[in-house]
Amino acid sequence: MKLVRVALAVPLFQFFDYWLPADSEAQIGCRVSVPFGTQTRVGVIVDFPQHSEVPEEQIKPILNCLDETSVFSAPLWRLLHWAASYYQAPLGEVLLNALPVKLRQGESAVEKTKTFFKLTALGQQALKDDELKRSKKQREALSSLLTAEAEKGNNGFSATIWANLKQKEYIEEIEQKTEIVPWQEKCAPLPITNAENRLTLNKEQALALTQLVFRQGFAAWLLDGVTGSGKTEIYLQFIEEILQKGRQVLVLVPEIGLTPQTVQRFQSRFNVEIDVLHSNLNETQRLQVWQRAKNGQSAVVIGTRSALFTQFKDLGLIVIDEEHDGSFKQQDGWRYHARDLAVVYAKQLNIPIILGSATPSFESLNNVKLGKYSSIVLSKRAGKSTALRQFVIDLKHQRIQNGLSDALLNKMREHLEKGNQVLLFLNRRGFAPVLFCHECGWIAQCRHCDKPYTYHQRQRVLRCHHCASQKAVPRQCEQCGSTHLMTTGLGTEQLEDVLKQHFPQYGITRIDRDSTQRKGRLENYLQDIHQGRSQILIGTQMLAKGHHFPDVTLVALLNVDGALFSVDFRAEERLAQLYMQVAGRAGREEKQGEVVLQTHYPDHPLLRKLLAQGYAAFAEQALALRRQTGLPPFSSQALFKAQSRHSEQAEALLNQVADYFRRWIIEEKIEGLQILGPIPAPFVKKAGQYRWQLLLQHASKGALQRGLSRFQADSPLKQSQVRWILDVDPLDL
Ligand code: ADP
Ligand code: ZN
Ligand code: ZN
Repeated sequence: MKLVRVALAVPLFQFFDYWLPADSEAQIGCRVSVPFGTQTRVGVIVDFPQHSEVPEEQIKPILNCLDETSVFSAPLWRLLHWAASYYQAPLGEVLLNALPVKLRQGESAVEKTKTFFKLTALGQQALKDDELKRSKKQREALSSLLTAEAEKGNNGFSATIWANLKQKEYIEEIEQKTEIVPWQEKCAPLPITNAENRLTLNKEQALALTQLVFRQGFAAWLLDGVTGSGKTEIYLQFIEEILQKGRQVLVLVPEIGLTPQTVQRFQSRFNVEIDVLHSNLNETQRLQVWQRAKNGQSAVVIGTRSALFTQFKDLGLIVIDEEHDGSFKQQDGWRYHARDLAVVYAKQLNIPIILGSATPSFESLNNVKLGKYSSIVLSKRAGKSTALRQFVIDLKHQRIQNGLSDALLNKMREHLEKGNQVLLFLNRRGFAPVLFCHECGWIAQCRHCDKPYTYHQRQRVLRCHHCASQKAVPRQCEQCGSTHLMTTGLGTEQLEDVLKQHFPQYGITRIDRDSTQRKGRLENYLQDIHQGRSQILIGTQMLAKGHHFPDVTLVALLNVDGALFSVDFRAEERLAQLYMQVAGRAGREEKQGEVVLQTHYPDHPLLRKLLAQGYAAFAEQALALRRQTGLPPFSSQALFKAQSRHSEQAEALLNQVADYFRRWIIEEKIEGLQILGPIPAPFVKKAGQYRWQLLLQHASKGALQRGLSRFQADSPLKQSQVRWILDVDPLDL
């Protein structure tokens, strides 16, 4: 027997030792199934130690070794170790979460055979006699076998349906050896590219492509170009270069950007094997994509955030589309940023990575300034479309009904009567309501922090989320005395009801997380829009991305004020990104598009900058402000969050954390660490739990990392019953 050290997917910063048979050839990175308490768990071998701190008689033998060789490629193994350390997450959780679910459950990692369903003579007869007229799905599944055999676990029908058919002996299962054909062979003799679909690049694009192709090895490129400037065309042509070299490509897109149109564009361009990791795949299919990429059977993998952990035989390029998108940040479990990790990965692999966006994140813009990224700017729209007209509606003194001003209603009427569609956006992400005066625009602010109070409707109080002070809701404006005080914010449902009254003759479609929870709903709604069944579209961020609506000529942002005075310092950046994206939805064909923005603060300097000079100028100014105030990307943050049914317990836990770091400052003479809080989270109470947070901020990433590592090693919260998490580089404050 020899000792083996195993990482398990448990929220503990420790490994577990087991016995392995002396003759076992298991290697580091192999999976083993082990007894853990009363359960059996799948873990990953991380070491073969000489000694264990656990007394020998307490060490249990492993149950099974599941692999002959590591299930992690060497580069991914390195990346995941880096990630666990940077994001302060237990290695076991990181390693196991990077594997397809089937592998986490212990299924074989190598596919030796595939099982297919085949029609039997009995089944053929049954179809002829129409025996299955009462079970439509079974009949449908059975008939599908007339044209082709169906692969088990990888077809459009449920396992129950096949089981029923098998029981009736209408089908049989046949096993076939899987053949691993590299994608290069599979595509030959066809050329890699369907050249007739390749566009002739304009000057700007051609210059961009030359730069990309010319550089060897690692380079992080920020491809900064307005919507429609031809970024995707550049991805495609650069991907072609990489494929020509026989190397594979990974394309990461935002959650909502993975549309059939996107995939279609890749498929019609290349004659190579393309795998898409979309949300409708089942676990068997996910495992197959994982295997195909690892074996070199697929040339291109397109997916969202977690597709980063696909393993490749020979990865030659990573593309991240809409790099600024928030969905690249994993918000639960172990928290990571897929874009940032992808850059680290590309560097380790010594390959190029392209980050594309019409509205780059401030982090990326700053990285260009620091010389870490190289920037390529596309300034013109490539296709045809006319310039956009922008309007700002000053809401002060206007009559507003449920967030809609008369001016906007008139504009909507104008566009609808011409037979066009109208898109209304509510910006509600990270939303915390603010109390303000409708007459003069005065905002209820905390005197200590000069930050707006957050309005808590239930308790009828104003609370500062920076210093935790609170006060009663005033009756009058402190500036002009008006009693017409209102809060920012309005729900999409409410809006739908109001619009029905104003425009009974038009169809209305509302798209948000609530209305699209059921599978297939979003697709149905999008169809309604495309086929002109609805003329008024209401949406949140979900609608802003990727979708192309040719008949939309008016786009309006209803309540941007929440973002201008948010407790979250990223709110303005997000508003600008949303505005640009939303604007990109209007008038994409030959029709004149208009964008309307409703605000009580038309003179807000950042808003004016954005409207008059565009995103780049806005970003420049907003970044300068961030630098002055020492906020990211000019500093690094880590957010501790705690929640409990008893508010004081969550607060007490975070006070313990704060004390720990205060001691650190003294003991090691640390300078410049800011400890902000604990304060109540923007949504203090959710599902009976009180949520508090504590923010750490330091100008140096390295210094903050050292503190966090020390904290994890000392684990001062070990005994605590309160649930808490740590978010490194948090996006939502
Ligand atoms: P982005 O990804 O920046 O939004 P796309 O690559 O999707 O831009 O291009 C926008 C539109 O312009 C598409 O319809 C595309 O077919 C077209 N387009 C892009 N590049 C060219 C080109 N060089 N010549 C003609 N049309 C182009
Ligand atoms: Zn006032
Ligand atoms: Zn305050």
